[in-house]
Amino acid sequence: MKLSLNTQIAIGAILGVIFGLYLHSLGPQDPAFSLWISISETVGGIFVDLLKMILIPLVFTSISVGIANLRAHQEMDRVWKITLIYFLASPTLAVILGLTVMNLFTPGADLKIAMFQDTMSTFQASNVSAGHFIKTFLSGLFMNPFKAMAQGDVFATLIFAVFLGIALIKLNERAKTLKEILVQGFDVIMLIVNWIMRLAPIGIMALLTKLIATQETTFLVSLSKFVAVVVGSTLFHGIVTLPGFLYLLTDVTPLTFFKGMREALVTAFATSSSSATLPVSMKCVTENLKVDKDIVGFVLPLGATANMDGTALYEAAAALFVANLAGIHLTIVQQVVVCLMAIIASIGAPGIPSAGMVTMIMVLQSVGLPIEAIAILLPIDRPLDAIRTAVNVEGDGICSLIVQKYTSKNR
Ligand code: ASP
Repeated sequence: MKLSLNTQIAIGAILGVIFGLYLHSLGPQDPAFSLWISISETVGGIFVDLLKMILIPLVFTSISVGIANLRAHQEMDRVWKITLIYFLASPTLAVILGLTVMNLFTPGADLKIAMFQDTMSTFQASNVSAGHFIKTFLSGLFMNPFKAMAQGDVFATLIFAVFLGIALIKLNERAKTLKEILVQGFDVIMLIVNWIMRLAPIGIMALLTKLIATQETTFLVSLSKFVAVVVGSTLFHGIVTLPGFLYLLTDVTPLTFFKGMREALVTAFATSSSSATLPVSMKCVTENLKVDKDIVGFVLPLGATANMDGTALYEAAAALFVANLAGIHLTIVQQVVVCLMAIIASIGAPGIPSAGMVTMIMVLQSVGLPIEAIAILLPIDRPLDAIRTAVNVEGDGICSLIVQKYTSKNR
Protein backbone atom coordinates (compact mmCIF):
# COMPACT_ATOMS: atom_id res chain seq x y z
CA MET A 1 0.00 0.00 0.00
CA LYS A 2 1.36 3.40 -0.96
CA LEU A 3 0.57 6.25 1.43
CA SER A 4 -0.40 9.60 -0.06
CA LEU A 5 2.06 12.45 0.34
CA ASN A 6 -0.41 14.17 2.63
CA THR A 7 -0.49 11.18 4.98
CA GLN A 8 3.28 10.80 4.84
CA ILE A 9 3.69 14.46 5.85
CA ALA A 10 1.25 14.03 8.74
CA ILE A 11 3.17 10.97 9.95
CA GLY A 12 6.47 12.84 9.57
CA ALA A 13 5.13 15.73 11.62
CA ILE A 14 3.86 13.50 14.43
CA LEU A 15 7.10 11.52 14.58
CA GLY A 16 9.05 14.79 14.62
CA VAL A 17 7.10 16.06 17.62
CA ILE A 18 7.44 12.77 19.51
CA PHE A 19 11.16 12.49 18.81
CA GLY A 20 11.66 16.16 19.68
CA LEU A 21 9.96 15.66 23.04
CA TYR A 22 12.11 12.60 23.69
CA LEU A 23 15.32 14.52 22.94
CA HIS A 24 14.10 17.41 25.08
CA SER A 25 13.66 14.99 27.96
CA LEU A 26 17.24 13.73 27.50
CA GLY A 27 18.59 17.27 27.75
CA PRO A 28 21.50 18.95 25.93
CA GLN A 29 24.12 17.17 28.11
CA ASP A 30 23.28 13.79 26.62
CA PRO A 31 25.59 12.87 23.68
CA ALA A 32 22.60 11.48 21.77
CA PHE A 33 20.99 14.92 21.99
CA SER A 34 23.74 16.75 20.12
CA LEU A 35 24.10 13.95 17.59
CA TRP A 36 20.41 13.93 16.69
CA ILE A 37 20.09 17.70 16.77
CA SER A 38 22.92 18.03 14.30
CA ILE A 39 21.39 15.32 12.07
CA SER A 40 17.98 17.05 12.17
CA GLU A 41 19.60 20.39 11.53
CA THR A 42 21.33 19.07 8.42
CA VAL A 43 18.33 17.21 7.02
CA GLY A 44 15.87 20.05 7.79
CA GLY A 45 18.37 22.56 6.42
CA ILE A 46 18.62 20.70 3.10
CA PHE A 47 14.84 20.65 2.75
CA VAL A 48 14.57 24.39 3.42
CA ASP A 49 17.50 25.09 1.08
CA LEU A 50 15.75 23.18 -1.70
CA LEU A 51 12.61 25.26 -1.20
CA LYS A 52 14.67 28.44 -1.21
CA MET A 53 16.50 27.27 -4.32
CA ILE A 54 13.27 27.17 -6.26
CA LEU A 55 11.72 30.27 -4.66
CA ILE A 56 13.10 33.05 -6.86
CA PRO A 57 12.51 31.34 -10.23
CA LEU A 58 9.03 30.45 -8.99
CA VAL A 59 8.13 33.99 -7.93
CA PHE A 60 9.54 35.43 -11.13
CA THR A 61 7.73 33.11 -13.52
CA SER A 62 4.47 32.82 -11.61
CA ILE A 63 3.94 36.57 -11.16
CA SER A 64 4.86 37.51 -14.72
CA VAL A 65 2.80 34.70 -16.23
CA GLY A 66 -0.05 35.28 -13.75
CA ILE A 67 -0.33 38.94 -14.71
CA ALA A 68 0.22 38.37 -18.42
CA ASN A 69 -2.63 35.89 -18.45
CA LEU A 70 -5.07 38.24 -16.76
CA ARG A 71 -5.29 39.82 -20.14
CA ALA A 72 -8.73 41.32 -20.19
CA HIS A 73 -8.39 44.63 -18.42
CA GLN A 74 -11.64 44.30 -16.61
CA GLU A 75 -10.49 41.05 -15.07
CA MET A 76 -7.06 42.30 -14.10
CA ASP A 77 -8.65 45.27 -12.43
CA ARG A 78 -10.93 43.08 -10.35
CA VAL A 79 -8.14 40.73 -9.30
CA TRP A 80 -6.03 43.67 -8.14
CA LYS A 81 -8.83 45.34 -6.28
CA ILE A 82 -10.16 42.29 -4.49
CA THR A 83 -6.65 41.23 -3.52
CA LEU A 84 -5.86 44.68 -2.16
CA ILE A 85 -9.11 44.93 -0.20
CA TYR A 86 -8.49 41.49 1.27
CA PHE A 87 -4.85 42.28 2.14
CA LEU A 88 -6.00 45.30 4.13
CA ALA A 89 -9.20 43.93 5.66
CA SER A 90 -7.98 40.60 7.00
CA PRO A 91 -4.96 41.86 9.00
CA THR A 92 -7.17 44.65 10.35
CA LEU A 93 -9.54 42.05 11.74
CA ALA A 94 -6.58 40.14 13.14
CA VAL A 95 -5.14 43.18 14.89
CA ILE A 96 -8.49 44.16 16.39
CA LEU A 97 -8.88 40.64 17.73
CA GLY A 98 -5.37 40.70 19.18
CA LEU A 99 -5.89 44.00 20.94
CA THR A 100 -9.33 43.08 22.28
CA VAL A 101 -8.07 39.85 23.79
CA MET A 102 -5.02 41.56 25.26
CA ASN A 103 -7.21 44.23 26.87
CA LEU A 104 -9.45 41.54 28.33
CA PHE A 105 -6.71 39.37 29.79
CA THR A 106 -3.89 41.90 30.36
CA PRO A 107 -1.05 39.34 30.53
CA GLY A 108 2.20 40.78 31.81
CA ALA A 109 0.60 43.25 34.19
CA ASP A 110 1.47 40.98 37.12
CA LEU A 111 4.98 40.01 35.98
CA LYS A 112 7.96 41.62 37.62
CA ILE A 113 9.98 43.27 34.92
CA ALA A 114 13.07 43.07 37.17
CA MET A 115 13.34 39.35 36.49
CA PHE A 116 14.29 40.18 32.91
CA GLN A 117 16.69 42.97 33.74
CA ASP A 118 19.79 40.89 33.03
CA THR A 119 18.68 39.86 29.57
CA MET A 120 17.50 43.37 28.84
CA SER A 121 20.76 45.02 29.79
CA THR A 122 22.78 42.75 27.53
CA PHE A 123 20.48 43.14 24.56
CA GLN A 124 21.49 45.68 21.94
CA ALA A 125 18.47 46.64 19.89
CA SER A 126 19.17 48.47 16.70
CA ASN A 127 17.44 51.80 16.47
CA VAL A 128 14.87 51.63 13.71
CA SER A 129 12.33 54.43 13.55
CA ALA A 130 9.13 54.12 11.51
CA GLY A 131 10.38 56.76 9.05
CA HIS A 132 13.69 55.00 8.59
CA PHE A 133 11.94 51.68 8.18
CA ILE A 134 9.59 52.98 5.50
CA LYS A 135 12.49 54.70 3.70
CA THR A 136 14.60 51.53 3.62
CA PHE A 137 11.58 49.53 2.54
CA LEU A 138 10.79 51.88 -0.35
CA SER A 139 14.37 52.24 -1.53
CA GLY A 140 14.75 48.46 -1.75
CA LEU A 141 11.70 47.99 -3.97
CA PHE A 142 13.25 48.79 -7.33
CA MET A 143 16.42 46.96 -8.10
CA ASN A 144 18.35 45.56 -11.00
CA PRO A 145 16.39 42.30 -11.47
CA PHE A 146 19.55 40.22 -11.82
CA LYS A 147 20.90 41.61 -8.59
CA ALA A 148 17.56 41.08 -6.86
CA MET A 149 17.41 37.47 -8.01
CA ALA A 150 21.05 36.77 -7.17
CA GLN A 151 20.55 38.18 -3.68
CA GLY A 152 17.34 36.22 -3.22
CA ASP A 153 15.37 39.44 -2.68
CA VAL A 154 11.80 38.24 -3.14
CA PHE A 155 10.07 41.62 -3.03
CA ALA A 156 12.29 43.32 -5.59
CA THR A 157 12.08 40.28 -7.88
CA LEU A 158 8.31 40.35 -7.54
CA ILE A 159 8.10 44.03 -8.46
CA PHE A 160 10.16 43.49 -11.62
CA ALA A 161 7.95 40.53 -12.56
CA VAL A 162 4.87 42.77 -12.16
CA PHE A 163 6.34 45.24 -14.68
CA LEU A 164 7.23 42.40 -17.03
CA GLY A 165 3.73 40.90 -16.78
CA ILE A 166 2.06 44.24 -17.56
CA ALA A 167 4.42 44.83 -20.50
CA LEU A 168 3.56 41.37 -21.84
CA ILE A 169 -0.13 42.29 -21.73
CA LYS A 170 0.50 45.54 -23.59
CA LEU A 171 2.62 43.96 -26.34
CA ASN A 172 0.33 40.94 -26.60
CA GLU A 173 1.03 39.13 -29.92
CA ARG A 174 4.43 40.78 -30.36
CA ALA A 175 5.74 39.26 -27.15
CA LYS A 176 4.13 35.85 -27.70
CA THR A 177 7.39 33.90 -27.69
CA LEU A 178 8.68 35.45 -24.50
CA LYS A 179 5.39 34.74 -22.77
CA GLU A 180 5.44 31.17 -24.02
CA ILE A 181 8.97 30.74 -22.63
CA LEU A 182 7.88 32.06 -19.25
CA VAL A 183 4.82 29.80 -19.23
CA GLN A 184 6.98 26.78 -19.98
CA GLY A 185 9.48 27.96 -17.36
CA PHE A 186 6.71 28.06 -14.80
CA ASP A 187 5.57 24.52 -15.63
CA VAL A 188 9.13 23.23 -15.35
CA ILE A 189 9.59 24.93 -11.97
CA MET A 190 6.34 23.44 -10.67
CA LEU A 191 7.56 19.98 -11.66
CA ILE A 192 10.73 20.53 -9.64
CA VAL A 193 8.53 21.68 -6.73
CA ASN A 194 6.76 18.32 -6.94
CA TRP A 195 10.09 16.52 -6.70
CA ILE A 196 11.15 18.59 -3.69
CA MET A 197 7.85 17.81 -2.01
CA ARG A 198 8.69 14.12 -1.99
CA LEU A 199 11.28 14.99 0.64
CA ALA A 200 8.78 16.96 2.70
CA PRO A 201 7.84 14.17 5.16
CA ILE A 202 11.43 13.64 6.25
CA GLY A 203 12.32 17.35 6.06
CA ILE A 204 9.36 18.32 8.20
CA MET A 205 10.11 15.57 10.70
CA ALA A 206 13.66 16.88 11.07
CA LEU A 207 12.57 20.51 11.42
CA LEU A 208 9.99 19.70 14.07
CA THR A 209 12.38 17.48 16.01
CA LYS A 210 14.78 20.39 16.32
CA LEU A 211 12.08 22.95 17.04
CA ILE A 212 10.64 20.95 19.92
CA ALA A 213 13.91 19.61 21.34
CA THR A 214 15.68 22.96 21.55
CA GLN A 215 12.87 25.17 22.86
CA GLU A 216 13.60 26.68 26.25
CA THR A 217 10.58 25.72 28.27
CA THR A 218 11.41 27.88 31.30
CA PHE A 219 10.75 31.07 29.37
CA LEU A 220 7.55 29.68 27.94
CA VAL A 221 6.29 28.86 31.41
CA SER A 222 7.08 32.23 32.94
CA LEU A 223 5.38 34.03 30.11
CA SER A 224 2.66 31.42 29.80
CA LYS A 225 -0.31 33.79 30.07
CA PHE A 226 0.95 35.90 27.19
CA VAL A 227 1.83 32.80 25.16
CA ALA A 228 -1.66 31.38 25.80
CA VAL A 229 -3.37 34.62 24.75
CA VAL A 230 -1.32 34.89 21.55
CA VAL A 231 -1.71 31.23 20.64
CA GLY A 232 -5.44 31.29 21.49
CA SER A 233 -6.25 34.40 19.49
CA THR A 234 -4.07 33.41 16.52
CA LEU A 235 -5.76 30.01 16.40
CA PHE A 236 -9.19 31.65 16.75
CA HIS A 237 -8.42 33.88 13.79
CA GLY A 238 -7.12 30.91 11.79
CA ILE A 239 -9.80 28.41 12.72
CA VAL A 240 -12.92 30.57 13.15
CA THR A 241 -12.63 34.04 11.59
CA LEU A 242 -10.82 33.29 8.33
CA PRO A 243 -12.61 30.03 7.43
CA GLY A 244 -15.90 31.69 8.50
CA PHE A 245 -15.35 34.47 5.99
CA LEU A 246 -14.28 32.01 3.37
CA TYR A 247 -17.48 30.03 3.83
CA LEU A 248 -19.69 33.13 3.83
CA LEU A 249 -18.09 34.55 0.70
CA THR A 250 -17.43 31.43 -1.35
CA ASP A 251 -19.33 28.42 0.07
CA VAL A 252 -16.05 26.52 0.41
CA THR A 253 -16.31 24.62 3.70
CA PRO A 254 -13.51 24.85 6.29
CA LEU A 255 -13.04 21.09 6.00
CA THR A 256 -12.46 21.21 2.25
CA PHE A 257 -10.13 24.16 2.69
CA PHE A 258 -8.00 22.66 5.47
CA LYS A 259 -7.81 19.31 3.69
CA GLY A 260 -6.57 21.02 0.55
CA MET A 261 -4.09 23.23 2.38
CA ARG A 262 -2.75 20.66 4.84
CA GLU A 263 0.69 20.19 3.29
CA ALA A 264 1.21 23.95 3.09
CA LEU A 265 0.11 24.58 6.67
CA VAL A 266 2.36 21.87 8.07
CA THR A 267 5.29 23.16 6.00
CA ALA A 268 4.63 26.72 7.20
CA PHE A 269 4.55 25.51 10.79
CA ALA A 270 7.76 23.54 10.42
CA THR A 271 9.76 26.13 8.48
CA SER A 272 8.35 29.34 10.06
CA SER A 273 8.71 30.92 6.66
CA SER A 274 5.91 31.95 4.30
CA SER A 275 8.42 32.38 1.50
CA ALA A 276 9.94 28.93 1.88
CA THR A 277 6.39 27.54 2.00
CA LEU A 278 5.33 29.33 -1.19
CA PRO A 279 6.11 26.46 -3.59
CA VAL A 280 4.04 24.13 -1.41
CA SER A 281 1.12 26.53 -0.99
CA MET A 282 0.97 27.17 -4.73
CA LYS A 283 0.85 23.44 -5.35
CA CYS A 284 -1.94 22.94 -2.77
CA VAL A 285 -4.11 25.82 -3.94
CA THR A 286 -3.80 24.92 -7.63
CA GLU A 287 -3.99 21.14 -7.41
CA ASN A 288 -6.21 20.51 -4.39
CA LEU A 289 -8.40 23.62 -4.24
CA LYS A 290 -8.56 24.04 -8.01
CA VAL A 291 -7.92 27.76 -8.09
CA ASP A 292 -6.99 29.10 -11.50
CA LYS A 293 -3.21 29.02 -12.04
CA ASP A 294 -3.06 32.68 -13.02
CA ILE A 295 -4.84 33.84 -9.89
CA VAL A 296 -2.60 31.66 -7.73
CA GLY A 297 0.46 32.93 -9.57
CA PHE A 298 -0.47 36.47 -8.73
CA VAL A 299 -2.04 36.31 -5.26
CA LEU A 300 0.20 33.81 -3.47
CA PRO A 301 3.67 35.24 -4.13
CA LEU A 302 2.40 38.69 -3.24
CA GLY A 303 0.61 37.37 -0.16
CA ALA A 304 3.69 35.48 1.05
CA THR A 305 5.48 38.75 1.63
CA ALA A 306 2.68 41.27 2.11
CA ASN A 307 -0.30 39.50 3.71
CA MET A 308 0.46 38.28 7.21
CA ASP A 309 -2.48 38.16 9.59
CA GLY A 310 -0.65 36.11 12.18
CA THR A 311 2.25 38.54 12.24
CA ALA A 312 -0.01 41.61 12.45
CA LEU A 313 -1.95 40.08 15.35
CA TYR A 314 1.25 39.13 17.14
CA GLU A 315 2.88 42.53 16.77
CA ALA A 316 -0.14 44.34 18.18
CA ALA A 317 -0.51 41.87 21.05
CA ALA A 318 3.20 41.96 21.85
CA ALA A 319 3.23 45.77 21.97
CA LEU A 320 0.46 45.71 24.56
CA PHE A 321 2.27 43.01 26.48
CA VAL A 322 5.41 45.12 26.63
CA ALA A 323 3.33 48.09 27.81
CA ASN A 324 1.86 45.93 30.58
CA LEU A 325 5.33 44.75 31.61
CA ALA A 326 6.63 48.28 31.72
CA GLY A 327 3.53 49.42 33.63
CA ILE A 328 2.56 51.84 30.86
CA HIS A 329 -1.10 52.36 30.07
CA LEU A 330 -1.75 52.87 26.36
CA THR A 331 -4.65 55.20 25.52
CA ILE A 332 -7.19 54.31 22.83
CA VAL A 333 -5.43 56.63 20.38
CA GLN A 334 -2.09 54.96 21.11
CA GLN A 335 -3.71 51.58 20.59
CA VAL A 336 -5.01 52.70 17.21
CA VAL A 337 -1.45 53.77 16.32
CA VAL A 338 -0.25 50.32 17.42
CA CYS A 339 -2.91 48.76 15.15
CA LEU A 340 -1.79 50.72 12.12
CA MET A 341 1.89 50.16 12.75
CA ALA A 342 1.33 46.44 13.30
CA ILE A 343 -0.39 46.21 9.90
CA ILE A 344 2.39 48.17 8.17
CA ALA A 345 5.00 46.08 9.98
CA SER A 346 3.35 42.86 8.83
CA ILE A 347 3.27 44.07 5.23
CA GLY A 348 6.93 45.05 5.42
CA ALA A 349 8.13 41.88 7.14
CA PRO A 350 9.68 39.39 4.70
CA GLY A 351 8.37 35.83 4.87
CA ILE A 352 11.31 34.44 6.80
CA PRO A 353 11.65 33.10 10.37
CA SER A 354 11.33 35.74 13.09
CA ALA A 355 11.07 38.58 10.56
CA GLY A 356 8.27 39.94 12.71
CA MET A 357 10.75 40.44 15.55
CA VAL A 358 12.70 42.96 13.49
CA THR A 359 9.69 44.96 12.36
CA MET A 360 8.35 44.75 15.93
CA ILE A 361 10.87 47.44 16.86
CA MET A 362 9.03 50.08 14.87
CA VAL A 363 5.70 49.15 16.43
CA LEU A 364 7.19 49.58 19.89
CA GLN A 365 8.82 52.85 18.95
CA SER A 366 5.67 54.30 17.49
CA VAL A 367 4.21 54.66 20.97
CA GLY A 368 7.46 55.07 22.86
CA LEU A 369 7.71 51.59 24.35
CA PRO A 370 11.17 50.27 25.31
CA ILE A 371 12.60 48.35 22.34
CA GLU A 372 14.89 46.43 24.70
CA ALA A 373 11.78 44.39 25.51
CA ILE A 374 12.49 42.41 22.35
CA ALA A 375 14.92 40.49 24.56
CA ILE A 376 11.93 39.09 26.42
CA LEU A 377 10.07 38.20 23.26
CA LEU A 378 12.94 36.54 21.39
CA PRO A 379 13.35 33.42 23.54
CA ILE A 380 9.68 32.53 23.10
CA ASP A 381 9.49 33.44 19.43
CA ARG A 382 10.09 30.07 17.80
CA PRO A 383 6.83 28.30 18.67
CA LEU A 384 4.80 31.50 18.24
CA ASP A 385 6.43 32.14 14.87
CA ALA A 386 5.49 28.63 13.74
CA ILE A 387 1.82 29.24 14.52
CA ARG A 388 1.61 32.74 13.07
CA THR A 389 3.35 31.64 9.87
CA ALA A 390 0.77 28.89 9.37
CA VAL A 391 -2.01 31.50 9.72
CA ASN A 392 -0.14 33.84 7.35
CA VAL A 393 -0.05 31.12 4.70
CA GLU A 394 -3.67 30.16 5.35
CA GLY A 395 -4.75 33.76 4.65
CA ASP A 396 -3.08 33.72 1.24
CA GLY A 397 -4.92 30.54 0.26
CA ILE A 398 -8.23 32.02 1.39
CA CYS A 399 -7.59 35.22 -0.55
CA SER A 400 -7.00 33.30 -3.77
CA LEU A 401 -10.28 31.38 -3.36
CA ILE A 402 -12.18 34.63 -2.75
CA VAL A 403 -10.54 36.29 -5.76
CA GLN A 404 -11.40 33.29 -7.91
CA LYS A 405 -15.02 33.45 -6.82
CA TYR A 406 -15.43 37.16 -7.58
CA THR A 407 -13.64 37.47 -10.90
CA SER A 408 -14.84 36.48 -14.33
CA LYS A 409 -12.32 33.60 -14.34
CA ASN A 410 -15.01 31.62 -12.56
CA ARG A 411 -18.03 32.75 -14.47
N1 ASP B 1 7.87 33.95 9.96
C1 ASP B 1 6.79 34.73 9.45
C2 ASP B 1 6.47 34.34 8.04
O1 ASP B 1 7.32 33.92 7.30
C3 ASP B 1 7.04 36.20 9.54
C4 ASP B 1 7.11 36.59 10.98
O2 ASP B 1 8.17 36.55 11.59
O3 ASP B 1 6.07 36.91 11.57
O4 ASP B 1 5.34 34.40 7.62
